[in-house]
Amino acid sequence: MTEPAKYQILLYYKFVHIPDPEAFKNEHLQYCKDLNLKGRILVASEGINGTVSGTIEQTEQYMQDMHANPLFADMVFKIDPSEEHAFKKMFVRHREELVTFRVEDELDPNVISGARLSPQQFYEQLQRDDVIVIDGRNDYEYDIGHFRNAIRPKVQSFREFPEWIRENLSEHKDKTILTYCTGGIRCEKLTGFMMKEGFKDVAQLDGGIVTYGKDPEVQGRLFDGKCYVFDERISVPINQTEEDIIVGKCHHCGKPEDRYINCDNDACHLQHVCCEDCEELHHGCCSDACEEVVAASHNAS
Ligand SMILES: [Zn+2]
Ligand SMILES: [Zn+2]
Repeated sequence: MTEPAKYQILLYYKFVHIPDPEAFKNEHLQYCKDLNLKGRILVASEGINGTVSGTIEQTEQYMQDMHANPLFADMVFKIDPSEEHAFKKMFVRHREELVTFRVEDELDPNVISGARLSPQQFYEQLQRDDVIVIDGRNDYEYDIGHFRNAIRPKVQSFREFPEWIRENLSEHKDKTILTYCTGGIRCEKLTGFMMKEGFKDVAQLDGGIVTYGKDPEVQGRLFDGKCYVFDERISVPINQTEEDIIVGKCHHCGKPEDRYINCDNDACHLQHVCCEDCEELHHGCCSDACEEVVAASHNAS
C-alpha cells in the first residue's frame, strides 16, 4: 500500500482588480511565509496567479483564507496530492501583467474572452473534423505532450502569440477555434485577443489541461504525452486510459522520452528532453561543448 500523500500542490488564478498590488504583494508574501508555503505567486492590478505547495493542513488553511477575502471568494483551486514540496522557496512578485502579452489594447477577460468549455464539451469539440485546435503554450511545453492534432505554435514565450496568430491564422477567422493551456489563464487572454482580431468562434478549455486530466468521464482522452508544469515535477500525467503514450524524443538519441533535464553546464542550463542512458553518457550535458566545459571545471577544482 502506498502512503497517503501528506502534501498538496495548488494551482489557481483570478482576474479581479487588486487596488494596491505592491502592498498586497508584501502582505501576501509574509502571510505565505508564516504559513510555511512554498511556490510562486504573481500579483498585478488585474489579479493573481499562483502555484504553491505545502502540507494538507497548510494548503487547506490557505484556500480557506483566500475564500474569506471577497476578492477571491469564488477562486477555483486545482489540487494535486504530493509526497513533498514542489518548490524550494516562496516568491510573491508584483508584475504589470499576470501573463506577459503586451498587446496594444488592454485585454480584460472579465470583459472579453472566448466561450469556456468544460472538459466534456472540449472533448466533444475536439472530435469534429472542422475545428482548428491551437496549443496556447510554448513550443517546449507542446513537445512532451499535447492534444492530438493540435497545432504547435512556433513561440518560445507567450508575448510572441499575437504576431504568430496574425501571420498564420488570419485566413481562418470564420472557423471554430479551440485553445487550451496548462491551467486556463493564458487562454483567457489569447481567446480575448483573437476575438478582438475578428475571429468569430473561439472557445477555450476551462481550467486547462490540468482540470481536463482530473475529469472522471473524459479521463484525459485525446491528450498524448505529459503536461509540462512549472514546478519541480516538470511534467504530470494526464491521459488515464491505456492510450497514454510518449510523444517527446531524447535530444541525443531520439528515443521516445518525456523527461526534461537542465544542462549541467551552469553557463548553459538548456532544458532538454533526455533519456536516462544519455544523461549518464553525456554527463547531464546538452552538447559536446558543454560537456567539455563541465569536464574542464572538474579538472580545475
Ligand atoms: Zn537518449
Ligand atoms: Zn548545454
